[in-house]
Amino acid sequence: TDSLARIQARDGQINAFVTVDEGGALAAARAADARIKDGSAGPLTGIPLAHKDVFCTEGVLTTCGSKMLANFTSPYDAHVVSLLKAAGAVMVGKTNMDEFAMGSSNESSHAGPTRNPWDTTKVPGGSSGGSAAAVAARMVPIATGTDTGGSVRQPAALCGITGIKPTYGSVSRFGMIAYASSLDQGGAFARSAEDCATLLTAMMGHDPRDSTSLERSYDDCGASLAQPLAGLRIGLPREFFAEGMSDDVRAAVDAAIAEYRRLGATLVEVSLPNARLAIPAYYVIAPAEASSNLSRFDGVRYGHRAAQYTDLNDMYCKSRAEGFGPEVKRRILVGTYVLSHGYYDAYYIKAQKLRRLIAQDFAAAFEQCDIIAGPTNPTVAYGLGEKTSDPVQMYLGDIYTVAVNLAGLPALSHPAGFGAGGLPVGLQLIGKYFHEANLLGAAHQFQ
Ligand code: GLN
Repeated sequence: TDSLARIQARDGQINAFVTVDEGGALAAARAADARIKDGSAGPLTGIPLAHKDVFCTEGVLTTCGSKMLANFTSPYDAHVVSLLKAAGAVMVGKTNMDEFAMGSSNESSHAGPTRNPWDTTKVPGGSSGGSAAAVAARMVPIATGTDTGGSVRQPAALCGITGIKPTYGSVSRFGMIAYASSLDQGGAFARSAEDCATLLTAMMGHDPRDSTSLERSYDDCGASLAQPLAGLRIGLPREFFAEGMSDDVRAAVDAAIAEYRRLGATLVEVSLPNARLAIPAYYVIAPAEASSNLSRFDGVRYGHRAAQYTDLNDMYCKSRAEGFGPEVKRRILVGTYVLSHGYYDAYYIKAQKLRRLIAQDFAAAFEQCDIIAGPTNPTVAYGLGEKTSDPVQMYLGDIYTVAVNLAGLPALSHPAGFGAGGLPVGLQLIGKYFHEANLLGAAHQFQ
């Protein structure tokens, strides 16, 4: 009830939630009480939780931030949703997001923009901006998100909280509405690294219903929380610090790195020579996959269907024209273009080659260090509407995050101080495959 009251008090202004499920939350809370009484409670039993509206929830609307799915109720739960239900977490609602998770500012949702709790004239970041804002505004202590090109780390940074995206394949994509399947990965938001560890541990695990889900044993993400930083080698990629960061972000990031050194870490310079190619590679691969994934929204099986049409083709066209917003349409067009005969080799295949080079850069860098650190976002949160008319400017904001997804590595963002206007700055830590616990351990020592 505290969480629901807090949503009631704050969300009129923030708009972090698309749906609040008060009845479901109270019923789940009562069930959690019973488990606490009979001694069968786990670490998340009774903890209020919000899911990004990209995760399917049985009986509760799943809109994915789109008019296309504005009335869609899934007949089943996403794998992550069932795991957290079984762990006893109490879902209070579904959070706002950029339409189909495409965006960096949370302004493209059919439910209207989410506002940054630190300054409601600013964006919270995206596309999981509703989840980040809900945690930052203390409406819920934990929330889920997805990160295809930075959508957990970037809003975490702009909202002053911690957010982690694990190694690709660790969190099942079953029931998570697909944007770019080879990049999409579920992730966790909380105020602290310690709480992120508890949530992420409960989310990871093999699921036969996702063909990219990795069959392995998943460690406790909190296993290294007590590990001192002495001896940890932190790699600083030359290219991340060369240009692009605003001065205030640079100052906060430098100060956070100095603090890591004071706590015993060793700093080493590393190089990611192809990092500058990550944005062009990502903005070919992600739209290509999106154009294919979004072909399922045809007005036939689910989602918006135009009220009037002349024949089947007209119905497809009108339903999609009415149901999708401008950014989604832009990406479908780019995606179909780069996949089309004659352009496939020039764009799509080339982007896949760059992807390999980027992954190799990380592998080489990780021979010299244990963790890579740098900024999460080039600036602090910017004004609502400031970049909506210039998609390329918006894409460039993803400069520090997308390479990680192309390589499939785990990475987090944790609060690193404050920049212009007293707004939060995030520090990004990137780890080796399956080293989530090390990342969270380092962030916990810092915090
Ligand atoms: N901003 C990136 C994009 O628009 C990342 C989005 C995401 O991670 N879902 O594609």
